[in-house]
This record gives sequence, C-alpha cells and structure tokens, in this order.
Amino acid sequence: MALALDQLEVAMCVFDARHKTLLWNETFLQFFPEHAGHVHEGEDYRENLRRFYLARLSAQELPSMERYIEEGIQRHHLQQRAFEFDHHGYRVRAASVSLGPLGRVRLWRKTAPLLTGMQDRINPRLVQLPARISADTARALESLADGILMVDDQDRAVWANHAFLVLYGQPDIESLGACRFEEIYAQAWRGAEPSADYARGVAILTERQRFSGAPYVLALPHNRWVRILELRGTQANGSSFFSHVDVTAARRQQDELRKMTRHLASLAGKDALTGLANRRRFDEVLEAQCRAYRQSETMLALLMLDVDHFKQVNDAFGHPFGDEVLKSFATVLTHVVQRPGSLVARYGGEEFAILLPETDAASAARLAEFLRQQVAAMALGNEHTGAVRITVSIGIASAIHCAPDYACATLVDMADRALYDAKRSGRNQVAVAG
Ligand code: GH3
Ligand code: MG
Ligand code: MG
Repeated sequence: MALALDQLEVAMCVFDARHKTLLWNETFLQFFPEHAGHVHEGEDYRENLRRFYLARLSAQELPSMERYIEEGIQRHHLQQRAFEFDHHGYRVRAASVSLGPLGRVRLWRKTAPLLTGMQDRINPRLVQLPARISADTARALESLADGILMVDDQDRAVWANHAFLVLYGQPDIESLGACRFEEIYAQAWRGAEPSADYARGVAILTERQRFSGAPYVLALPHNRWVRILELRGTQANGSSFFSHVDVTAARRQQDELRKMTRHLASLAGKDALTGLANRRRFDEVLEAQCRAYRQSETMLALLMLDVDHFKQVNDAFGHPFGDEVLKSFATVLTHVVQRPGSLVARYGGEEFAILLPETDAASAARLAEFLRQQVAAMALGNEHTGAVRITVSIGIASAIHCAPDYACATLVDMADRALYDAKRSGRNQVAVAG
C-alpha cells in the first residue's frame, strides 16, 4: 500500500490507536524532509508535529509552537474532513482517516504549485526588485498561474514571475540578464533538436514587431506551446507586460481531433482532400470486382491516371495551390465518370484510378481520351498565378486480356505499365496495355 501510494506521489503515515507512529512511505519523507533519519516506529505523534513546526515556524511564531502542537493533536484525533495548507512551494491537501481500533492513517497530496507560498522569492530583502515594480505588484503577479514578463522601454527583460521562469527553463530572474524576449526564446530552444516549429516561432517574433498587440502562439521544445499577449503602453515609465499562457493541453487536443477526423475519414474510405474514394476503399472495391469477374468473366477495365509534371506546379505556385489543382482535377473526373458501379479513387499523391465494370478496352480508351482532353482544357489559376494548365497521362488495362484466375494486382500492374508507356511517349497521352 505504501509503495502504491509512492507511485501516486501520495505521502502516507500510519499511527496506532495510541497515536504512535507505525509506518510511513518514501513520499512522506520527501514532503516532510525534517522527519528523514528521525521518525521511528513507536514515536509519538507529538514528536512528529514538533519537528514539523520547528522546520516551518518563523522566529516570531516559535513561542506559540506548543499551542500549535496541542491543536494539531486535537485535529489529529478528531479530523474527519480533508484540509489544505501551503507547504514547500505547494498547496497540499491532507486527509486523515480513522482505522477504528487499528489507529489512524494520514495522507497528503500536492494539489498545485503554490502561488501564495512564493513570498520568499519575492521578499524584497532576498530578490532585488526593479524600481518599476512594487513588492505588492510582484506578489500579485506571482499569484497568477500564467507566466508574466516585464520589459523596459527598450524591450529588455526587467522582471518575470516564477511561472514565466519555469516555462522558459530559466533558473532565476538574474539569469534573464536584461535580455530581449527573442533571446530568452532562443535560450529555451538551446540544446533541443532544431525544428521547423522553432524557425516559425522566430519568424512570428520578427513579424509581431510590426503587428504589436495581437496574441500569438509560439512553440517550445518537447511539443509545448505558449500563447503570448502583450500589454503595452499601460505603464507611465514605458515598461510593458507580456502574459505567457501554457496552451499545450489545448493544442494537443486540437491535434488529436484533427488526427481523429483524418482517421475517421480514412475509415469511411474517403480521401480528405478531394472527397474521392481513398486507396483503402479502392483496394476493397477492386478486390470485389475482380472476384465478380473471376466468377462471371464479365468485363472489367482499370484506368491509372497521373498528372504530368505536377511537381513543377507545386514548385512554381506553392503546395496549397497544388491542392486546389488536385481538387479541380478530381471534380473533372467525377463529372465525366458517371456510370453506376464505376469508382473514381485517389490512388495516392497526384495519381488517380478509375474502375469501370462491364467496360471493354475500346470503350475505356474512348473515355480516357475524353478525360485527357477535358483536363487539358481545364481553366485553372487565380490573380496571383495567372492561367495555369495541366495535362494527364493515362494507362488502361482490361480484364478481358487476363487469364481467368488472375489476381487483381495484375490488373493494377498492367495499367501502371501502360501509364509508364504514356509518360515515356511524351505525356498527355493515353496508352492501352497490350
Ligand atoms: P511526372 O509527369 O513524371 O508524373 O512528373 P511529376 O512531377 O508529376 O511526378 P513526381 O512524382 O516527380 O512528383 C509528384 C508531385 O506531386 C510531388 C508531390 O509533392 C506532389 N504531390 C503529391 N501529393 C500531393 C498533394 O496532396 N498536394 C500537392 N499540392 N502536391 C502533391
Ligand atoms: Mg506520380
Ligand atoms: Mg505526375
């Protein structure tokens, strides 16, 4: 039991019916280090309390210690409800449960990093506060869970609260050393894998100097995210405050949701970009059609289509525009291919497949040629790109040419080879597997 509670970071101490100490766990000693090496089996709860108060009370409070101990013992005998207190930088919740004739068990759990308990850190005698910030203001800002950074009129760090230091991995206020936030951000990434998220963060920081005021989100190492709000011009002396909110949890939820949506779409057999059947669905339908073909020897044709030089479209006009082109391309395919039982699918990337049951090679070739022309005639582009044209190469395979016991992979293979022939003969062509 004691070990299990250690794993949950719950401190435990058990007393017998006469309030003598029986048993405690490792977390108990971590929470109350003053007991390490002192607490022993059979020790009276009074001694336990005495050490606790000796470690905790200030010089002014010490004369009242005996009274505190007596009150503590009373509470220990009678306590029924959990209560909370501030302890070593944490809010701690304590529960005490009677075990009847066996005695009593006390449990402690940290509920939150302590905000009010940071007075030590911002005691003006211990930490030099800049003239711009009063101890009261500092104490108020320490009580916020969000990181707060104060900068002077040159944007140099003047003060930060504990939450800010934790967020950016800074040991103390002195280590900020009048840096600009850009430098603090770079320091937070020091030693981490270089990442595109960091590059984007740096770009955002450069950008926001032009659009000061709007909140923005920056990546931190280990997939953490922080949302920053600037409060400029509120102070007469030109200093500004930045509030830094850890939005990692919300961000992860968003990512999960996006992943889940994609996963559900894929389970539903749909390609997320074009709305066509996806590769998974295509494979299922192909398998079913091939089975039907094997049983009845009806005709079956497959078209494999590949957009020509599509990489150049992306390179010239950007990936998002490339996506728009793929959507328009998919629309043309679905408009042209209307026959019931046929299937238009995105096979992968800029490759598409069309399955045509009960269609012979000649009809499939006619349809393919019509598609080729429609694609070449497509009007694409916008005011940024100007008019853009694309072409497509198409390979055709027909099941009539196969042995009756062929596998569906054979059909795909044949259509692929025909597509390769079309590419080799100059693209913007239709080729039929021979
Ligand atoms: P080829 O005529 O030989 O087919 O040349 P290509 O440039 O079309 O062929 P390649 O295989 O070299 O490049 C295919 C490109 O298609 C590269 C890839 O970035 C792009 N692509 C694949 N999927 C998508 C997508 O979903 N959106 C965008 N915008 N581009 C994609
Ligand atoms: Mg390709
Ligand atoms: Mg291509």
